Amino acid sequence: MNKPLILVVEDDAPVRNLMSTTLKTHEYKYLTAPTGRDAVMLASSHNPDVMFLDLGLPDMDGVEVIRQVRSWSNMPIIVISARSEDEDKITALDAGADDYLTKPFSVEELLARLRVTIRRLSIMNTSGAAESSIYTNGKLKIDYPAGCAFLNEEPLKLTPIEFRLLCLLAKNTGKVLTHTYITQSIWGRSWDNDIASLRVFMVTLRKKLEPTPDSPQFIQTHVGIGYRMLKIE
Ligand code: CA
Repeated sequence: MNKPLILVVEDDAPVRNLMSTTLKTHEYKYLTAPTGRDAVMLASSHNPDVMFLDLGLPDMDGVEVIRQVRSWSNMPIIVISARSEDEDKITALDAGADDYLTKPFSVEELLARLRVTIRRLSIMNTSGAAESSIYTNGKLKIDYPAGCAFLNEEPLKLTPIEFRLLCLLAKNTGKVLTHTYITQSIWGRSWDNDIASLRVFMVTLRKKLEPTPDSPQFIQTHVGIGYRMLKIE
């Protein structure tokens, strides 16, 4: 794809400048917005490929920006939040954000998140990828209609819940899914004991999926937040 256009939404000028300088240095095209109102306007007028969105904006809550943009666009949104705003991150992800960065962040982190997101974008742009009945990611293969998964061509012996978890993560490759979102999708509710069960199922799923569980390749844990399936290059 062509160089993606990035929209940076941040009211703090030094942070905004750092971000735009970084993007410029790495030859990304970018736009900047200091308010939520400007963000929504630029998002609709320029249709950027990715949005970095600070959650603490002077005129509106960043989560409100996500809700407005999500009413007409699936563009990946990476939220930026202060360390004290852990709940906000979860709210933002549940409102449709794809990923988050915690302040203060390094230039390397910013670029790493952007690379993961651009990989997600290329999956989203592959025509019919979402509808495809076979999923492949590195050595992992899932045959959705047949209800089976393979690692290195060997069938994985998964329980029905493990399989549903794996499918949910795979269908959202590149996106951070919150505990609430996952438990709602699998069990239709999100009680404390559902979240505890989720942890247990994730442990057993990972044992089957990750050859070296200490350095997982596929499923990334976001402590206190959720999980993400990574796209293997
Ligand atoms: Ca701010």
